[in-house]
Amino acid sequence: MSSTAQEKLVHSFRDYVKKLMSYQQAISLLHWDMRTQAPRRGMGARAELISTLAAEKFALSTAAQFGEYLEELSEPSVFATLDPITQGTVTECKKEYERSRKLPPDKYKEFVLLTNQAETIWAEAREKNDFALFRPYLERIVKAKLEFINYWGYEGNKYNTLLDIYEPDLTVEQLDEMFAALRQKIVPLVSAIAASPHKPDTSCLTQSFGLAEQEAFSRYILERIGYDFEAGRLDKSVHPFAISIAPTDVRITTRYDQNHFNVALFGCIHEAGHAIYEQNISLDLLWTPLCDGASMGIHESQSRYWENMVGRSRRFWDHFYPDLVKAFPAQFSGVSIEQFYHAINEVTPSMIRVEADELTYNLHIMIRYEIEKGLINETIEVGELPRIWNAKMEEYLGIVPANDREGVLQDVHWSGGEFGYFPTYSLGNVYAAQFAHAMRKQIGNYDELIATGEFAPIRSWLKENIHQYGKMKKPNELLADVTGETMNANYLIDYLESKYKAIYQL
Ligand code: ZN
Ligand code: ZN
Repeated sequence: MSSTAQEKLVHSFRDYVKKLMSYQQAISLLHWDMRTQAPRRGMGARAELISTLAAEKFALSTAAQFGEYLEELSEPSVFATLDPITQGTVTECKKEYERSRKLPPDKYKEFVLLTNQAETIWAEAREKNDFALFRPYLERIVKAKLEFINYWGYEGNKYNTLLDIYEPDLTVEQLDEMFAALRQKIVPLVSAIAASPHKPDTSCLTQSFGLAEQEAFSRYILERIGYDFEAGRLDKSVHPFAISIAPTDVRITTRYDQNHFNVALFGCIHEAGHAIYEQNISLDLLWTPLCDGASMGIHESQSRYWENMVGRSRRFWDHFYPDLVKAFPAQFSGVSIEQFYHAINEVTPSMIRVEADELTYNLHIMIRYEIEKGLINETIEVGELPRIWNAKMEEYLGIVPANDREGVLQDVHWSGGEFGYFPTYSLGNVYAAQFAHAMRKQIGNYDELIATGEFAPIRSWLKENIHQYGKMKKPNELLADVTGETMNANYLIDYLESKYKAIYQL
C-alpha cells in the first residue's frame, strides 16, 4: 500500500471509530439522564431511543465495511507502521468485531430477548422468594452461554472465555490461586473477629444526619481527594454509579440515608475513585475505545483504593475528623476518633453482598466464582444452586440465609447472563493493595500525605502510572510495569490482617 493510500485508510478508519464512539457517548448521556433527572413519564420514549441508538451502533460495529478496515490495517506490514493509538484501536476493535461476528445473529437476538425476560422474572422470583420461577430461565441462560463459548472458542477452561470479556487474559488458574490464598487467611480471620469480645460501637453512625449537610460534607471530601467538579458533577440516584461521557465529563451519583452516615460519603468516595481514573485518561485517546479503564478489575481497584485504603484509614481521619465534627457537632462531638474509626470498619458477616464490609466482601465473591465456574464446566446444575449457595455461606461466613431472596436470588447479574463479572470485584481489592504497596515504596512520604490530606502527589502517581494509559495496556501488563509483579493476593491479605487484627485486638 502506498503511504498516501495508507494515510487515507487510517483517516477513514479513525473517522468510522469516532462515529461509533459518538453513539456510545450519546447513549451514556441518555442513560445518565434517565437515572438522575428524566421525568417518570419520559422513560418509555427514552428507553426506545436508547435501544434504537444501540442497534445502530451494533450495526456499525459489525458491518462488513468495518471488517474490511480491520483486515487491511491488521496486515502485519501495515500494522507495524501504524502509530500506537491506531494500533491499539485496531486490536481492540478487532477483538470486539470477532466476538460479535462469531455469533449467529439469530442466536444473539434470542439471547437478548431471553435475558430481557429473565430479568423481569428474576425480579418477580426475588419478590416472591421463589427460585423455582427463575430456574428454567437460568438454565436456558447457562445453556446459551455454553453455546456462545463453542462459537467463540476457549483455551484451557471454558470459563476463561467469559472472564476475558471483563478482564483480558485472566484465567481460572490465576483465580483459583487467588481465592485459595484469600480463603485460607480470610475465613479464619472472619471467625476470629466474630469471636472477639471487642466490638466496635457503631451507634454514632446511625443517628439522624441532615441530607444537605451530608451532601456538603461529601462535596468537600470529593474536592479534597481531587475529583474535578469542572469535569464532572454529583447527583442523586437510587443505585450509585460513575459514568464517563469523556475524560472532561465524568459524572457520579450517590444515595443519601438520613439514618446512616456511611451510605452517602463512602458511596461518593467509591464512585469518585472510578471517576478520577476516567478524568485522568489521556485526551489523545478520546474518540477511541481505548478511552476507558484497562479492565473491570483495574477500574474497581481505583474505587476500592479511595474508598477503603484511603477513606477508611486511620490516617485519613486523623486529618479530616475535626472537619467532620465541625460539620456534625451534635452527632460527633462526644465521639472519639478511635470510636469513629472502629465504627466505620465494623466487620459483620451478612447475607447481602452489596452491604458487606471490606473484609467479608471477598467471601461473597468467592461463593459466586465457585458457582459460576461449576455451572460453566457443568459440574453444578442450576437446580442445586439454593442448596450449594447456603452450604458455602455457612462454610465461609458462618451464617445461612433464611430464604433464597437473601441468598441465591439477591444479585441481578446472572439474569443478564453476566458470568465472569463477579471475580473482578475481588481482583479490584487485590490490585488496589498491590498498587498501594508500590506507592508506599515509590512515594517517599506516602503515609504522611494521607495524614495531612495532601493527595496531589498520590493522584499524580496514579495518573502517570495507571490512569493516563486508559485501555492502552492490558491489566497484567499494567501490573507488571507498576509493581514489577504479577497478580499477588498476599498484599491484600497483609493489609487486611494488620488492619483488622488491630481494630479487633486479636
Ligand atoms: Zn474499638
Ligand atoms: Zn465500583
